[in-house]
Amino acid sequence: MHEIDRTQTVTVAGAGLVGSLMALFLARRGFQVEVLERRPDMRRETVDAGRSINLAISARGLYALRQVGLEEEARRHAIPMRGRMIHPVSGALALQPYGKDDSQHINSISRAWLNQYLMTHAEGTGRVRIRFKQRLQHVDFDSGALSVLDEASGATREERATVLLGADGSGSAVRQEMARRPGYQSTQELLSHGYKELTIPAGPGGSFRMEKHALHIWPRGSFMLIALPNEDGSFTCTLFLPFEGPVSFASLDSPGKVSAFFQEKFPDALPLIPELTHDFFHHPTGSMVTVKSEPWHVGGRALVLGDAAHAIVPFFGQGMNCGFEDCGVLDGLLSRHSRWEEAFSEFFRLRKSNADAIADMAVENFIEMRDSTANPRFLLEKQVEKLLLNAFPGQFLSRYTLVSFSRVPYRLAYEVGSIAGGIVSELSEGLSRAEEVDLDRAARLVRERLVPFVEEHSDGFRLEG
Ligand code: FAD
Repeated sequence: MHEIDRTQTVTVAGAGLVGSLMALFLARRGFQVEVLERRPDMRRETVDAGRSINLAISARGLYALRQVGLEEEARRHAIPMRGRMIHPVSGALALQPYGKDDSQHINSISRAWLNQYLMTHAEGTGRVRIRFKQRLQHVDFDSGALSVLDEASGATREERATVLLGADGSGSAVRQEMARRPGYQSTQELLSHGYKELTIPAGPGGSFRMEKHALHIWPRGSFMLIALPNEDGSFTCTLFLPFEGPVSFASLDSPGKVSAFFQEKFPDALPLIPELTHDFFHHPTGSMVTVKSEPWHVGGRALVLGDAAHAIVPFFGQGMNCGFEDCGVLDGLLSRHSRWEEAFSEFFRLRKSNADAIADMAVENFIEMRDSTANPRFLLEKQVEKLLLNAFPGQFLSRYTLVSFSRVPYRLAYEVGSIAGGIVSELSEGLSRAEEVDLDRAARLVRERLVPFVEEHSDGFRLEG
């Protein structure tokens, strides 16, 4: 029972970003794959692509696409973003580079395009069948029976799955079913902030009305606005704001209040968003959740991956990247194990601490983005960090660089980040300019604190982007 056998059909719940990519990996290994997707086919009907219009893809996501031969085409549709462009309430814009130079950048890509591209390639293998408007409702893990609602007819029927992969997102039906079993745990922490998407349309002839190669941020303490570029010259802005309170989605309850709020807090963005009040009141307010659950599998019968296992808040731009990395890791394990249960339990062992680490870093990054990017001390430390990255290449490592530009396990990136952050903070004490940093002292601190850690975990640090 539950030997890995390539003649088996694997059932995947969810044809989102992770489900579609996982289906493609499985097909390339020779499996037949049945995918159940509750939404209509977004290639044929207009559907909300869900979550965000565009997202940032970086080293981990790109590597997974490279493994299935799709990286190049994805890069052609992606816009490199070399740093954060900070928009103060008044005064000059400031670009904070993400990496040591322009070669280190993240990329803005359309969620809908990427999802469709993955679905089409998965189906193109001839081994993947995606059935739309099919919502998985219940699972009996002992028998493999699935209860599936046909959203078109309203009828519920039973199906069988020998092996089930739950890639059905943060509200995963598969995970909820697992959580009912003894010994399983699942927590969901809802952020007290929500988000709303707004549009800066393209300028004349599809031109960009702000710097194209940047992720724009308007940091304002307890809230912020960000914008990512789209291929057609537009930008998608996301306003992150508390749900309740004096400055919140609840308090901005009239077009006049919304316009006045933007005029006061985001004066340079306001003239670029002509449909502000219409979009504000017609677009949904999204919520963000951190999901932590364990274990992620029921024997060799079922496994959750992507957001279904570990949804995180979006402030490190890593949810999809982490989910794509899951797919590549699971694929590798399927080549090494002969039983599903072994592959699933090793997957959980390898990925859980990394998923927890990026979940925590994502929450911390929220504070950094909305608050500290406008703080002079933070800016000085960022400059010192960049200086150290260039002065001690390969020896001084920053958390952001490891998370976004390498495949070093998130857990190690988290720990290195704490050590490196401590070094930067000590060296920045009393400086007014980054260039005043004491490089001899820096060399000693790097040698004493970072080098031994990296040597101790040398296997993990070999994973380049
Ligand atoms: P989903 O994308 O949620 O897909 C799940 C799929 O399962 C959907 O198609 C859904 O319809 C289907 N489904 C759900 N329930 C069922 C069911 N019962 N039966 C059948 N089908 C079902 N990540 C990044 O890496 N970079 C970013 O810049 C970034 N920005 C983000 C911005 C925002 C505002 C948000 C909210 C998230 C962002 N993320 C980002 C995170 C990213 O969106 C998720 O990590 C990613 O979508 C996870 O993919 P998934 O396939 O696991 O889940």
